[in-house]
Amino acid sequence: MTDVYLNGGLIGTVDDAAKFAESVISGRREGKVTSLLNVYHNKKEDTIRLWTERDRVRRPLIVVRDGKPVLTDEHMAKLKSGELKWSDLVKLGVVEYLDAAEEENAYVAMTPNQIKKNHTHLEIDPIAVFGICTSMVPYANFDPSSKLNRGQKTQKQAMGCYALNFWNRMDTAINLLHYPQVPLVKSFTQQIYGDALSSGQNVVIAVIGFDGYNINDALIVNRSSIDRGLWRSTYYRPYVTEKLRYPGGQIDDICIPQKDVQGYTLEKDYRFLGEDGVIAPEVEVGGGDVLIGKTSPPRFLGKLEAFSAAANIRKDTSVRVRYGEHGIVNKVIVTESEDGQVLIKVDVREYRKPEIGDKFSSRHGQKGVIGRIVPPEDMMFSASGIVPDIVFSPNGLPKRMTVGHIIEALGGKVGALAGRSVDGTLFHSEGSDKLRQELLALGFRNDGTEVLYDGRTGRQYHAKIFVGNMYYMRLKHQVADKLQARARGPIALLTRQPTEGKAKEGGLRLGEMEKDCFVAHGSALLMKERFDSDKTIQWICEKCGAVGVFDSYRAKAYCLCGEKTKVEPVEMSYAFKLFLEELRAMHIRPKLMLKDKY
Ligand SMILES: [Zn+2]
Repeated sequence: MTDVYLNGGLIGTVDDAAKFAESVISGRREGKVTSLLNVYHNKKEDTIRLWTERDRVRRPLIVVRDGKPVLTDEHMAKLKSGELKWSDLVKLGVVEYLDAAEEENAYVAMTPNQIKKNHTHLEIDPIAVFGICTSMVPYANFDPSSKLNRGQKTQKQAMGCYALNFWNRMDTAINLLHYPQVPLVKSFTQQIYGDALSSGQNVVIAVIGFDGYNINDALIVNRSSIDRGLWRSTYYRPYVTEKLRYPGGQIDDICIPQKDVQGYTLEKDYRFLGEDGVIAPEVEVGGGDVLIGKTSPPRFLGKLEAFSAAANIRKDTSVRVRYGEHGIVNKVIVTESEDGQVLIKVDVREYRKPEIGDKFSSRHGQKGVIGRIVPPEDMMFSASGIVPDIVFSPNGLPKRMTVGHIIEALGGKVGALAGRSVDGTLFHSEGSDKLRQELLALGFRNDGTEVLYDGRTGRQYHAKIFVGNMYYMRLKHQVADKLQARARGPIALLTRQPTEGKAKEGGLRLGEMEKDCFVAHGSALLMKERFDSDKTIQWICEKCGAVGVFDSYRAKAYCLCGEKTKVEPVEMSYAFKLFLEELRAMHIRPKLMLKDKY
């Protein structure tokens, strides 16, 4: 007796579970039951689970019977002529959809020649085991899996054209590549998902060291390539505000704030505002500049305060450009929100040129930052006058074992010279032997290497240098977003420590390891200075060890345990004083026992 569950609920029992499951499957193939039904015979639990629910992820597989795929050449011919359609194959039981549960009992062969007697299904194409991004990596079957994982991740971080209607949209923090190109070497899935919205550019690469500026994964970039528009991008950031209504008839005001509002900053911050309190398009703005002038009514009005003049001061709640950012106002939209409130959106764009420290990657997870931008006259060149756009170090290749990376460079070279697109679809790609022969026919060495000359001396390099064409992507991690330094700045109210993070103009953390470095150098005073950002003097009672009180009116310190006890000023960090107070809040009474320092 085996329990049978339908969509998780018990509906009955059967005597022969294996026979029952088989009959369900054959019934589905014959069209007697719906093709949406999946069955899973769990032999360990001795249960049968039937699923017809929506939202299961299912995938199509070719049925294999007696060691032979049900799909025949006859089917294929009919598919080609249009006599049969995909849905007909499903109806005929040639192709069936399996869900995750039924897959447990399936034995799937990757290719037809792998099929043995106990196989139940055949993969339609081996590429189906990969997701969208991974299948877009050319020659992916030559790369190690870990690099492939990173390769698909970098594709998601790449700048490109994310939507063709980007001009009408206002998305948060968008990077738009100015001249995206379709890759020279691509897999066929790229055509399906990526050609219209590609996210990289084809560049000429050379594999050689360059004065150590491309150590490990760093890249050397030709300045003339950047000057001609390589990898240029625009960064868009929208700022949004709403004119809110408050209980009691109070309302926000979009205007140029008057100087008597609470939180008014310098007059120059408001200089770009028009009469309506909103900035105009195409104005150049920097951090702290007001984009939308707004004042809000004071909150928490008490009974008495409502009549006092001082409490009726409105607050400045203007929308300002983020600290450290700058750009040009791209668009201004005044509209209505879902609740019928006035909604104002201001889009700021920033034009960005690749600079040292910006991150780039090929599709094989070979990512690196720009180490140096070299003037074109110092770059190496070939006999025919080709100057590479980027130079990366040969040391980056053996460790990562990305063979696909090199084959793509070779394929790109063939594609660029022959003026065609090279098929790099994983498992079905054009072989490197074929590419080598074609390269030979095009008048180049078949291993992709060329004679190069040093641009600075004009001398020929002793070794032949590998030159190829690759698809490189500019990633969203840019130095402009991360660069930060501060000497003095805001502190947190509770701990009196510097604020954290770039957005809040935060301090730079001097951590455990940096501290060790100072200790090793014996720079004790520097360390003392670094660690006392929240230095405070507290009066400690000599008798009871508690923190005393300083009466600034009488200029006298005393302890609560008695006016006559002696209190001493002690230097400590404010965080420590806070810690003492937190202990007391937990009913633990800390005491500071004072001793003579000398
Ligand atoms: Zn005391």
